[in-house]
Amino acid sequence: MTKSYTSLSEIKSEIASGEITVEKLVKGYLDKISANTRLNAFNEVFEQEALICAQNVDSRIKQGIAGKLAGMVIAIKDNICYKGHKVSASSKILDNFTSVYSSTIVERLLAEDAVIIGRCNCDEFAMGASNENSYFGAVKNFADESRVPGGSSGGSAVAVQAGMCHAAIGTDTGGSVRQPASFCGLVGLKPTYGRISRHGIIAYASSFDQVGPITRSIEDAALLLEIMAGPDEYDSTLADNAVPSYLPDNNKPESIKKIAYLQEAVSSPGVDSEVKSNLVQYIDKLRNAGHIVKPIAFELLDFLVPTYYILAMAEASSNLSRYDGVHIGYRSPAAVDLLSTYKNSRSEGFGKEVKRRIMLGTFVLSAGYYDAYFAKAQKVRRMIREKTDAILKEYDFILIPTAPEPAFPIGRKEKDPVVTYLADIFTVQASLSGVPAISLPTGNNSKGLPLGLQLLTRHFEEKELLNFSEYFLGL
Ligand code: GLN
Repeated sequence: MTKSYTSLSEIKSEIASGEITVEKLVKGYLDKISANTRLNAFNEVFEQEALICAQNVDSRIKQGIAGKLAGMVIAIKDNICYKGHKVSASSKILDNFTSVYSSTIVERLLAEDAVIIGRCNCDEFAMGASNENSYFGAVKNFADESRVPGGSSGGSAVAVQAGMCHAAIGTDTGGSVRQPASFCGLVGLKPTYGRISRHGIIAYASSFDQVGPITRSIEDAALLLEIMAGPDEYDSTLADNAVPSYLPDNNKPESIKKIAYLQEAVSSPGVDSEVKSNLVQYIDKLRNAGHIVKPIAFELLDFLVPTYYILAMAEASSNLSRYDGVHIGYRSPAAVDLLSTYKNSRSEGFGKEVKRRIMLGTFVLSAGYYDAYFAKAQKVRRMIREKTDAILKEYDFILIPTAPEPAFPIGRKEKDPVVTYLADIFTVQASLSGVPAISLPTGNNSKGLPLGLQLLTRHFEEKELLNFSEYFLGL
């Protein structure tokens, strides 16, 4: 059995000393995957291909020409295109669809000799926070199999958590990398909007969608960010900011840092008591280490979730209009003319939550309601961003929980979807503002369930964020 390595550098030193080969590593992960199929983390495993790829990497290592990710075996969320491989977004409407090109990030990872071991289960079209909205069924949390792993990148998180690969790549529109990372005891990074190319990523809400790594260490998150980041002629939203080396230095910060935390996170009855005490514990640790940590009130707090959902649904309704039963994906057997092709293919192909969002998104964009909802939400988003930027002018970081409670039981059906949406309260601020945010594993609660805290910082300051995160976890 393959042991779990915390970082790629550990793997690399064992490869160098001859204790392990990439092929052996892949075999070990494949064994773990077959022993854990009940977790439902993978939609497909690329067994033969991963083994062949591993042999190639081994020979490149021997020749001394291997890339920076040699020894890194990763899984990708099933909304990331990889040429010649199926991609489904965990939806019936894309079942059996094969990618015709690779996403930029897949190309960059492979160019540095990563091995891609499979594609992971997720909420359908990345819409959800529990991985229960998947056409392929729920994913189980390895820490407690009666509970969700979070979502939407739930399969990706469990693949790393249960040792079925070394790291995973997810996407984060409103928390989908950070929240599952926190539910599974891992590091989850959402970079600044405009840092990593989305070319070849199945679009959900394009003004939010970001790619991010799910790892066991800050070091690996930094390395994966470094390789995936930077301009791409196929994604015009990318910034030209140079990509630095993101590797953390593990030193105590040179200066005293100013950190703001949300007052509500420690006072609101809606936040689980052990989540609160975990936050308080870290606030104390930071203060004891000499940093300035102050509570702030974010007066737009109540507007975060509604603003996010109005905009995300509007964008989703537009992005998902391409699944029409004609060009790509599923076509209903009951399609006889154009209208029945559209109607039946979409009605049968999309799941319930996706349909709800397409309908609500279409509603807020409709002529009579555009100004009242969509245009208003755009204005509120600007205010949220300005307020967040203002806080980050005064403070170096914002510290908040990643989620108001730890992993909850599978099947806990809320009657009102709004209750589910409200649980995204702490993750959507960074998504609405575009700033980078990282979820850090900060221990377990009394039931052994992982807890996570989140740090946010200024646009494009991932280097500072990762450095401080490394220090933070060592406190
Ligand atoms: N839970 C949020 C939603 O359902 C975020 C999902 C995501 O980041 N993809 O939209």
